[in-house]
Amino acid sequence: MSEVNHDLIIAGAGPAGMSAALWANELNINHLVLESGTEPGGQLLKTFNPIDNHLGVAALNGNDLRDVFFRQVEKRTKSVLFSRTIRNVDIDSNRIQLENGEKLGFRALLVATGVRRRRLEVTGEIDLRGKGIILSGKKQAVEASDKDAIVVGGGDAAFENALILSEFAKKVTLIHRRDEFSARREFVEEVLRHPGIEVLTNAQVVSFNGDSQLKAVSISLNGENREIEGQIAVIRIGVAPNSEPVTGLVDLDHRGYIRISSNCRTTRKCIYAAGDVANPVSPTVSSAVGMGATAVKSILEYLRNN
Ligand SMILES: Cc1cc2nc3c(=O)[nH]c(=O)nc-3n(C[C@H](O)[C@H](O)[C@H](O)COP(=O)(O)OP(=O)(O)OC[C@H]3O[C@@H](n4cnc5c(N)ncnc54)[C@H](O)[C@@H]3O)c2cc1C
Repeated sequence: MSEVNHDLIIAGAGPAGMSAALWANELNINHLVLESGTEPGGQLLKTFNPIDNHLGVAALNGNDLRDVFFRQVEKRTKSVLFSRTIRNVDIDSNRIQLENGEKLGFRALLVATGVRRRRLEVTGEIDLRGKGIILSGKKQAVEASDKDAIVVGGGDAAFENALILSEFAKKVTLIHRRDEFSARREFVEEVLRHPGIEVLTNAQVVSFNGDSQLKAVSISLNGENREIEGQIAVIRIGVAPNSEPVTGLVDLDHRGYIRISSNCRTTRKCIYAAGDVANPVSPTVSSAVGMGATAVKSILEYLRNN
């Protein structure tokens, strides 16, 4: 097993990690970016709508913005490795361990691992992925043409998907486990008014049913079992922070987000965090990019003094 030391290891090559890499180069910090995916971008790779709310760029979609970001990063640093998932951190020896067993030493670690979509953890959810359970209503709306569509969730993303799918589907059923919604009022009002969308509250998904293709969803509605026909489904039940590599080492909030100071430092002196994994309040590209820069500026101070 090889062992290499770096002044700074950056975990994740989403907007926060890319910004941090740029700033590490700017400040002459010896660094390495480790990304578990096969390409940079993080959530940008799953964003199919235009992104025109990050100052200075009007991108057609997330991929487009990712290309703009990574072109700039690539010109400045070649220290980005893909298919490298950080599994855990040994704080006594200042080493991270990757899923492939490799160990790497660091003086400072920046966790920029973002968030992932929450799963329902029910039967059929994985097996029927791509066989009716789709990734994005925005990107795959036409697949709902003349079908019954099901959307699970009660936030903005769920309501937005229900509205998009309603333009193509015969009928949309929105299933939510509570009787109130976190989605913004305009979305809720539009969905509740929509003749093609039925909203079921206090309803829990029990399973996605079908062999090679989704056929129906079993739910528990106010305690009673019911089956809803549906050949297309989108699950939007929120996100969870990818804070596992440092769980137990730094303070997390009750949802698992990393707690940081205003200079992006965690409760461990040598561990910093930036982007969505530490920012439930403003999970945006602009915040992630800004936090990447803040963290690296603070890390420079740390490296000088330790
Ligand atoms: C559909 C959608 C639409 C959006 N629209 C907008 C918008 O219009 N405007 C806006 O500002 N924001 C938008 N966002 C949010 C924006 O994409 C995020 O705020 C931003 O991507 C956060 O960047 P990040 O670097 O913190 O995290 P992420 O983008 O989540 O990147 C984290 C990276 O870390 C990697 N990683 C995870 N765990 C590990 C590990 N253990 N080891 C190594 N690597 C790891 C991941 O593979 C990923 O590449 C949208 C998000 C979605 C999903």
